Amino acid sequence: MQKKLEQLRNDALKAIASASGEEQLQGIRVRLLGRKGELTALMKGLGALSPEERPSIGQLVNSVRDNIESTLEAALNAELERVKCERLQSEKIDVTLPGRNAQVGTKHPVSLVVEEVCEIFAGLGFSVAEGPEIEHDWYNFEALNFPPEHPARDMQDTFFVENDLLLRTHTSPVQIRTMLKQKPPVRIIAPGTVYRCDSDATHSPMFHQIEGLMVDKGVSFGDLKGILTVFTNQLFGQNTGVRLRPSFFPFTEPSAEVDIACVICGGKGCRVCKNSGWLEILGAGMVDPEVYRHVNYDPEDISGFAFGMGIERIAMLKYGINDMRLLFENDVRFLRQF
Ligand SMILES: [Zn+2]
Repeated sequence: MQKKLEQLRNDALKAIASASGEEQLQGIRVRLLGRKGELTALMKGLGALSPEERPSIGQLVNSVRDNIESTLEAALNAELERVKCERLQSEKIDVTLPGRNAQVGTKHPVSLVVEEVCEIFAGLGFSVAEGPEIEHDWYNFEALNFPPEHPARDMQDTFFVENDLLLRTHTSPVQIRTMLKQKPPVRIIAPGTVYRCDSDATHSPMFHQIEGLMVDKGVSFGDLKGILTVFTNQLFGQNTGVRLRPSFFPFTEPSAEVDIACVICGGKGCRVCKNSGWLEILGAGMVDPEVYRHVNYDPEDISGFAFGMGIERIAMLKYGINDMRLLFENDVRFLRQF
């Protein structure tokens, strides 16, 4: 019995010393000290000993058990400590590493132009007005004096939603909505998204416009040219030449296309201006009396002008962008340049 106990103790201590990992150590505990363990089995044999042997063997059993238990405990603690150190080592933060900069976004060139144009007109006493992108035929065409057979109403140009609902083809319906809501004087600028069935290097099915409207007593064509000259000089630089050419729009009479001296060649003639020295940037004119009748304004009493421009076109000219599609691809390498 004594020999067996000594043997068990030696084997146990060796096993503990060579064990690696918490799992193996727990395994040893179960194998020796568990309910069906080897030491437990030996202890069960104590009853068969003679009364003389019992005390000394009993003492030995206790000492072997204590010995194994304390050694196991120490080994387990050491193992836990080792695991903790390992984790601390692997989770260590090197505070001397350079930081990772947060990516800061930039404003889209379309947004930049909208902001700048709105700011210029705010300085001229205009306030910003908005309207819905899904519009009634009446606001988009009828009230703006588009006769029913006008080509702009054709399926090829307009996205129809259903019946008399469509995606607005211009920001001009905001003029109508504003005039129906308020009496003159009116001085608004209306930026927004518009839609047309059209797609190539210079056209996109969705693009942006800014519409302007000024109605008051005695507003003249001279006021229109004055305001637009102030505007183009602020947007493209002082002394940018401005030219008005006769044109036609259903909702203005007389109407004009407005050109600025080419920002690329300064008017000498280049590929962008097709050697004309001029670039068309917006359409404008005096509001047609027919439009006033639709909003219950008296054309004998007041007069006014309206103008509209494509924001993408302005952005392309201002930033020298040669393909409109770049404005919609959202390539951050492109967008970061602004
Ligand atoms: Zn040019």
